[in-house]
Amino acid sequence: MADFDFADIAPPLTPDYALLEANKCLFCHDAPCTIACPTHIDVPAFIKKIATGNLRGSARVILEPNPFGHSCARACPVEVLCEGACVLNDRDEQPIKIALLQRHATDYVLERKLKLFQAGKPTGKKIAIVGAGPAGLSCARDLRRAGHAVTVFEAKPLPGGLNTYGIAEYKLKADVALAEAQDVLDLGVELRLGVVVGRDVPLDQLLAEYDAVFVGVGLGKTKALGIPGEDLQGVVDALSFIEHLKTHPYRETSVGKRVVVIGAGNTAIDAVTQAKRLGAATATIVYRRGEADMPCYHYEYELAKRDGCGFRFNAAPQRIIGNGSGGVSGLEVRTGGGNETIPCDMVIVAIGQGARTELTWPKEDPRVFVGGDCANGGAEIVNAAAEGVAAARRIHQRLTNG
Ligand SMILES: Cc1cc2nc3c(=O)[nH]c(=O)nc-3n(C[C@H](O)[C@H](O)[C@H](O)COP(=O)(O)OP(=O)(O)OC[C@H]3O[C@@H](n4cnc5c(N)ncnc54)[C@H](O)[C@@H]3O)c2cc1C
Ligand code: SF4
Repeated sequence: MADFDFADIAPPLTPDYALLEANKCLFCHDAPCTIACPTHIDVPAFIKKIATGNLRGSARVILEPNPFGHSCARACPVEVLCEGACVLNDRDEQPIKIALLQRHATDYVLERKLKLFQAGKPTGKKIAIVGAGPAGLSCARDLRRAGHAVTVFEAKPLPGGLNTYGIAEYKLKADVALAEAQDVLDLGVELRLGVVVGRDVPLDQLLAEYDAVFVGVGLGKTKALGIPGEDLQGVVDALSFIEHLKTHPYRETSVGKRVVVIGAGNTAIDAVTQAKRLGAATATIVYRRGEADMPCYHYEYELAKRDGCGFRFNAAPQRIIGNGSGGVSGLEVRTGGGNETIPCDMVIVAIGQGARTELTWPKEDPRVFVGGDCANGGAEIVNAAAEGVAAARRIHQRLTNG
């Protein structure tokens, strides 16, 4: 049987290494890492607690402003956030391994199921949350801590949003995402799974039954290419491909021998690297613009190159060519030198997600709050967590002052 490599791309630190790394921190005042983090975790404070052996206290410093500190430690693009801002970069030294230290502390409490937060005294107020992703559950946690009753409506069979269904398998596995979600639910959050608000329950009904509604529904499906051949077998959208991989034993996700991924964002990189790790002989990004125009993070690009993935730049997809029996035999692209066919038996489409269509919400209703990908157009887990926490604060203020 094939040996799949989905081990953690950044393995956890040993206790000795964590101590050593923690003691390298300069504990800056007005620390640039804290400023660069969208949830403004007090990074020097949590690192100091690791240095003194207080892992529980360290995790509390992390999780207080960021309920998704566990998954952020594994998946944050730290090169452009906290670690990119570390002052050691200016000395041409390696930055402090903030994410791995964060993981060290948060793993400690997650693995031991330590409960760091409690529900507040009941206020008699009820809030509905639409979407059990990082935004919705961050909002839920802080509303429960303030004592409000919270019901989360989630379309999928499991909570966690893209943490459970979308983040690359070598960064975050679904069981960790689910354990993190469960931590929030254990505060006494009611969770209704398999309910699509806007289809199964109208938003107006929630507005009639609850004191406030938080909408954290994320983004919608992968956009269509709009070229002939898109309906052939062997053409899949990146999110469905990744979701299948994350929710089934690895051998059950079918992958072609010669895979082409259309797009060059972070999702395209996740798709091409995971296709390669599933056993594709070749996995190639096809992008209509040049290398310098790729929207993915530079380190993601480097990762795909290290995984042996290929890249075809300035190649605009024109049509997907069938093999005569319903499958795919190639992708025709337009290049500077005319049209050419790239042979392949699987095409993964990763040209970005559209907005959700099942649910629209009034912009002016003061009882409706919005956060996460559906509000910011698509960012990172840490932004969704920050926005969920900020919305909980605003909802609490409105319900207690109004
Ligand atoms: C392939 C991929 C890889 C990514 N990799 C990273 C990464 O490495 N690091 C990182 O930080 N970020 C990454 N991101 C981004 C990150 O996943 C998102 O920014 C984050 O999940 C947004 O959280 P959210 O709660 O706003 O939305 P989501 O996580 O999308 O959660 C929204 C939830 O709402 C539910 N929902 C939607 N509509 C309804 C409805 N009508 N009724 C009820 N429920 C509904 C959905 O089922 C979903 O569970 C990645 C995104 C993708 C697509
Ligand atoms: S949440 Fe992310 S950006 Fe913030 S300190 Fe932790 S790893 Fe860095």
